[in-house]
Amino acid sequence: MALSFACNASILPQQVKVNSRSTKYLQNVRNLVETIGIPSISSSPDESLRKGNWVKLICGASFEDVVDIRNLSLVYTLAGVDCIDCAADASVVSAVNEGIEAAREMLGSLRRPWVMISVNDDEDLHFRKAEFDPDDCPLDCSRPCEMVCPANAISLERKASSEEEFTHFIGGRGKLQVGVITERCYGCGRCFGVCPFDKIRAVTYVRDAAATSQLLRRNDVDAVEIHTNGRQTDSFKDLWNNLEDSIRHVELVAVSLPDVGDLTVSVMKTIHSIMDPHLHCYNLWQLDGRPMSGDIGRGATREAIAFAVRLAAVRDRPHGFLQIAGGTNSHTVSGLKKAGLFQTTSISGNWRGEMFTVNSQQALIGGVAYGGYARKIVGRVLAEMQSHHGLAHIEDYPNYVFKALKEALLLQKGREKASTGITL
Ligand code: SF4
Ligand code: SF4
Repeated sequence: MALSFACNASILPQQVKVNSRSTKYLQNVRNLVETIGIPSISSSPDESLRKGNWVKLICGASFEDVVDIRNLSLVYTLAGVDCIDCAADASVVSAVNEGIEAAREMLGSLRRPWVMISVNDDEDLHFRKAEFDPDDCPLDCSRPCEMVCPANAISLERKASSEEEFTHFIGGRGKLQVGVITERCYGCGRCFGVCPFDKIRAVTYVRDAAATSQLLRRNDVDAVEIHTNGRQTDSFKDLWNNLEDSIRHVELVAVSLPDVGDLTVSVMKTIHSIMDPHLHCYNLWQLDGRPMSGDIGRGATREAIAFAVRLAAVRDRPHGFLQIAGGTNSHTVSGLKKAGLFQTTSISGNWRGEMFTVNSQQALIGGVAYGGYARKIVGRVLAEMQSHHGLAHIEDYPNYVFKALKEALLLQKGREKASTGITL
């Protein structure tokens, strides 16, 4: 079935002519993938979970820039991710699938990663957008909001709004325009606290259960992730009951929850008991350490690792794979290794003054999901391409595919900088 690319497709330029230089870059991409030998490319996503190899790209539950999402999906499919998690929106899902298929056309033998949609059962940090009216912004504001935004989702241009203002424009009059580019905002919240005039507000939303059900019935959606706040389970139950019939169409149900201390395991047990009668596929717990912070720096990953260590040590936790997220970046795998949790089936240690040993038939931690950090390292290449070529399909510029892939591979299994002998 041909996939449609609903938004922005018409404004993309026609495919560039492939020349010998492009062919060379394309060959470099193939060589890079072959040289690195990504194990997950030849194993199924569920096998990766069992081995502790699983890598998920989080496009962002609220990130809806379909051009970037398509290109990110292409690059990370080449890099061998097991799953691509995106907003529960039909255009976004189509963009992810189109990126995956474009990557598979480039390399031929790639297996398809699972496509996961993210929804929420209640208010949640991942499901909000920043909003302000640029007309209300003082013209002399130094615009810190624009500077802190990691998604380039705030654009402020000074425009003359009348003939008279145009005449005096050089004198600094006019109005600020654009504001938040809604489809790029993923709700990280970093702009909220920096506005000296308190102009920015958060607009939260809950994904509609009926629309989610429709998406789950599509044959190009393989998994669903339900974000829950861990404080109460009534809203989870309501959403689960509404999704009941469509859940049987997916391979995996993930539940993303924050660390709520001693309550975490009992909340997981309650949620599992709600799901159990209609759960006929794999299930996974996404341990959300420090939400939307992986791009900040090395320390951001500590909370996710600590969360994983605590959960791995619980012997009577409910069934399901464990996967970490929230603050994950290039330091996460080394952190898991230090904690003895990378691709390991047993762990010994001391928890609450008691010695423990936990053994499992499969890896105790199924894998890692990367969001802001993954988007940042490849996003730099996408932005560079856009500055030269405008909105474009990255496969039309194989030199950028090669550059972006080298970045993406850094996240795969915590590899050191790819040294391949292949030069640009
Ligand atoms: S919430 Fe985050 S992504 Fe959205 S505009 Fe503010 S800084 Fe940018
Ligand atoms: S920091 Fe506040 S006042 Fe200044 S441009 Fe941004 S939203 Fe407007």
